[in-house]
Amino acid sequence: MKDFIIDTVDAIVIGAGTIGSSTAWHLAKRGLKNVVLIDRNTIGSGNTSKAASLMTLVRTKEELIPLIQETYRNIDEIELLTGENTGKNKVGTLHIASSEESVANLEKIVSIANKHHIKNREISIEEVKEKVPWFDTSSILKTSFMEDDAYLDAYLLANTFAKAAKLEGATIMQNAEVIELLSKDHKIIGVQTTKGIIKTPIVIDAVGAWSNLLSLQLNIPIPMAPVRSIYWITENIDTLFPKNHPMVVMPDAMAYSRPENGALLFGLREENSPHFHPNELNTKPNSDFLGPKNDAWDILENYGKDFINYFPKFEETGMKNCITGISTYTPDGYYTIGSFPNFKGFFAATGCAGCGVAGSGGIGRLVAEMVLEIPLFAEAGVFRIDRFSDFDPMSEQFRQLCSDSRSKKKDGG
Ligand SMILES: Cc1cc2nc3c(=O)[nH]c(=O)nc-3n(C[C@H](O)[C@H](O)[C@H](O)COP(=O)(O)OP(=O)(O)OC[C@H]3O[C@@H](n4cnc5c(N)ncnc54)[C@H](O)[C@@H]3O)c2cc1C
Repeated sequence: MKDFIIDTVDAIVIGAGTIGSSTAWHLAKRGLKNVVLIDRNTIGSGNTSKAASLMTLVRTKEELIPLIQETYRNIDEIELLTGENTGKNKVGTLHIASSEESVANLEKIVSIANKHHIKNREISIEEVKEKVPWFDTSSILKTSFMEDDAYLDAYLLANTFAKAAKLEGATIMQNAEVIELLSKDHKIIGVQTTKGIIKTPIVIDAVGAWSNLLSLQLNIPIPMAPVRSIYWITENIDTLFPKNHPMVVMPDAMAYSRPENGALLFGLREENSPHFHPNELNTKPNSDFLGPKNDAWDILENYGKDFINYFPKFEETGMKNCITGISTYTPDGYYTIGSFPNFKGFFAATGCAGCGVAGSGGIGRLVAEMVLEIPLFAEAGVFRIDRFSDFDPMSEQFRQLCSDSRSKKKDGG
């Protein structure tokens, strides 16, 4: 195909996962006329399509909460605007504590929830039994039920954000890859794509696992690395796993779960999740297993031991699927949002810390406000792209720090 040059556009968002699609919508909705959302594949087909998509509202890292609350508001707005459905299912989250340490932690979580007006209440063992038929309650010391939490379909969310962006005037380019970021005198001037050059003063790097491959062209290191996330889906047993039963967060088993159409989707957090150099990752949508193949069963055996205490029928329940994908973890568990000092026009919206579906609306809004230089709706200092110094995001050592941050995470999803 012959190269074309599109006249200057106002902003280009690269990567149409939940984060990039949300960013395009927030920019277009705030009046930026020519926003282009570009993806080398199709909307939502990246790691977004792999997400378990729990949207747990309460977080021990409190600065994430306003961003997640923004996503909930955005979902209502874009569903109304587009007439689409993101598959949002408000089933609530049941937080379980079975050790003294977890009880103390749950008390802290409840006080954070109260501060942020997130509805919560302690529920009785009888109510747990009634709500979650697969669950053995004998080790429970404390519970908290947060009834406004939902999960959804992240692929549909990305597509709904993109459709809303289009309705606000944005242009969507699929199957077009950005090969090079073009700059002059520390300023963005455009991008070279497989379909030609597009001139622009603003680029937002929202390509998830591949973010550093683009930013390092400008010598900008983004503090995040691709780390594997993994979960399993059981066979369908309607009586054990009713369709609308609550999500469950079990820090004492390093496990979380949610209903999946009559089956149970559950994740176990291993001590050392594999991390990857972005060049090792498949660039096309795929269902390849990431990492050593035996992991699918070895992890169940090694890390499922504590889960059996909650789910006694675990060993006799068949597994339908094991899903792996990439989350982009940062060493401190905060997103990476914003511009880089002394470089004009480049913004990052990545480092999802395993909760980039939940935070996508807030991340998109913050980046849009930064681009437009208008007041920010939430505290953004903790997400700064330059908060770590002297690191090589591609090095084994740095990637390991990011993997460790996943292993320590106890919040849901
Ligand atoms: C197994 C698993 C479970 C998860 N569970 C949860 C959960 O419960 N809750 C939650 O909130 N989050 C969860 N996540 C995280 C969540 O999936 C992500 O945070 C979220 O989808 C945001 O992804 P993204 O937009 O950053 O990246 P992606 O969805 O990967 O999007 C990046 C896009 O960039 C495109 N791209 C790459 N390079 C280029 C280029 N050069 N030019 C053009 N396009 C390019 C790709 O094609 C891709 O579509 C989970 C992730 C995984 C893998």
